[in-house]
Amino acid sequence: MIDKNLFKINKIRPVLIGLAGLAVLQALLIIGQAYFLAKGISNVWAGKTVKAQLTYVGLFFICFMMRQVANYGKDRFLDSYAYKETKIIRQQLLKKVFSLGPNFVQKEGTGNMVTMAIEGISQVEDYITIILPKITNMMIVPWIIAAFVFTQDIKSAITLLIVFPIIIIFMIVLGYAARAKADKQYEGFQRLSNHFIDSLRGLETLNLLGLSKRYGKNVYQVSENYRKATMSTLKIAILSTFALDFFTTLSVAVIALFLGLNLIEGQMSLFPALTVLILAPDFFLPIRDFANDYHATLNGGNTLKSIYAVLDVEEPIDNSDALTQFTGWTSTSELELKDVAASYDASIEKDALEGLNFKWQGYGKIGVVGLSGSGKSTLIKVLGGFLNGTPSSEIRVNDETVTSLNNSNWQKNLFYVPQNPYIFHGSFRENINFYVPNATDDAVLEAVSQAGLTSLLSELPEGLDTIIGEGGQMLSGGQMQRVALARAFLDNSRKIMLFDEPTAHLDIETEADLKETILPLMEDKLVFFATHRLHWMKEMDYILVMKDGCIVEQGTYAELLAQDGVYKEFVNEIRGGSENNG
Ligand code: ADP
Ligand code: MG
Repeated sequence: MIDKNLFKINKIRPVLIGLAGLAVLQALLIIGQAYFLAKGISNVWAGKTVKAQLTYVGLFFICFMMRQVANYGKDRFLDSYAYKETKIIRQQLLKKVFSLGPNFVQKEGTGNMVTMAIEGISQVEDYITIILPKITNMMIVPWIIAAFVFTQDIKSAITLLIVFPIIIIFMIVLGYAARAKADKQYEGFQRLSNHFIDSLRGLETLNLLGLSKRYGKNVYQVSENYRKATMSTLKIAILSTFALDFFTTLSVAVIALFLGLNLIEGQMSLFPALTVLILAPDFFLPIRDFANDYHATLNGGNTLKSIYAVLDVEEPIDNSDALTQFTGWTSTSELELKDVAASYDASIEKDALEGLNFKWQGYGKIGVVGLSGSGKSTLIKVLGGFLNGTPSSEIRVNDETVTSLNNSNWQKNLFYVPQNPYIFHGSFRENINFYVPNATDDAVLEAVSQAGLTSLLSELPEGLDTIIGEGGQMLSGGQMQRVALARAFLDNSRKIMLFDEPTAHLDIETEADLKETILPLMEDKLVFFATHRLHWMKEMDYILVMKDGCIVEQGTYAELLAQDGVYKEFVNEIRGGSENNG
């Protein structure tokens, strides 16, 4: 019932042991409570004065209070533990996703897995704070109570022990049924949302073709099916709660009946009978508690699974023993590409990149231009080490030559800003400081202001603590880019920056605003800036013109314009489009 992924969480063992200890304490206190209460009552029944029972009543209350205190302490501890650990897991995940690179995330299906893992982290938090103590309680408390009941009345103890596995089996069967239904429901939900979005997208066309009515019916049918699936899941869930309550109540009643008969026949005295009766509901309580949150376990467990599936993905060969001399890009560092080629799929004859030659020393802004499909992104991926060069490629960094930059010494010095930077579900602060988790708020605010986000921040209801991303405050495309830039402003130690069309999906005005922010960030760095918007090229120190996976021209802006070659051609080709200068 405890899945083994749980044990991968940092420091979980001592926590589980602590929880087990608390469960034992809990069980002893429950027994104490029942014992002292029964003692007091049976003494009064036997004719002693109420006053003489004050000690028992007092002890009962002490047990009761201690239980509450222990519970409160446990909750507090688990909350902070879960918060801390899930934060660590989130960081591990982001780091992993970062080092796996965009190629991994873009692969069919894995994007989903990553999203699920990152967004499901709050479910893991619930899993730790809610489910874990319930599981440990369920595995410990009933047995201690049963053991104590054995000392009081063997028949009752046997009844308890017989009912327990029946309930468990019942729970498992219903759980499976509910799960199957829930899966089906989820499928239905996906179908519904896809269907709905498709219809919305195609509304105009449908209207033109006069099909909108018929499609309306179709949407109705799909949503109706979804409603039915939801209801049947609910039915099972309610049925299982009912069945569980029914069984446990029935077995308590059976025990009460036996105890009553024994009392009438004088085979038993009041005190043990009373103790057993008080304890019987507590015997079942942990399992009922657990069953109520069974669904949360499913989600939390699934999320844990996908989190560790991502964390366990093997990173492409990291030749981290290479580039050991490289400690960061400086004004004298050198990078040279010699006959670099790269391919996404070895079975395709033509490589995505071929025969790249390029050399650079020190800081500088290098523009990468070319039409869509010319290999700009591929070049950026090779430079980021997210895609390996073919074996004959030579990439020289200072005095060391490698075939691939998939190397932590290189990657920890670079920033990658894609077209759609990932904003994960988390606070505004966490989204900015994840390269530098220990940054002070002052530093974060400074980066926020440099990235031009101050006015957005002042509008956020909870400032830096506001949750953004999916399910939280949504940001516009331009704002997301600014968050990505703020990350870069905050960590100025990374001197290599790779931009892959960071403004491609923004309108011209937003882009112009953003340009003001980006330009200062590029000073004193090695920057590769891929774009098909030519007005950036004026700002670049050097330009690589790509076509069909090759660098077909390179030089400064002035040189390329003077050359009357591919770049000129390219400018003319693009000018018909969106360019405002060139
Ligand atoms: P650009 O960024 O200039 O638009 P890309 O670098 O994305 O161009 O693409 C260069 C070539 O590589 C294209 O032929 C494209 O089809 C191919 N390509 C790009 N990404 C992948 C991928 N993930 N898998 C296979 N081929 C790809
Ligand atoms: Mg691209």
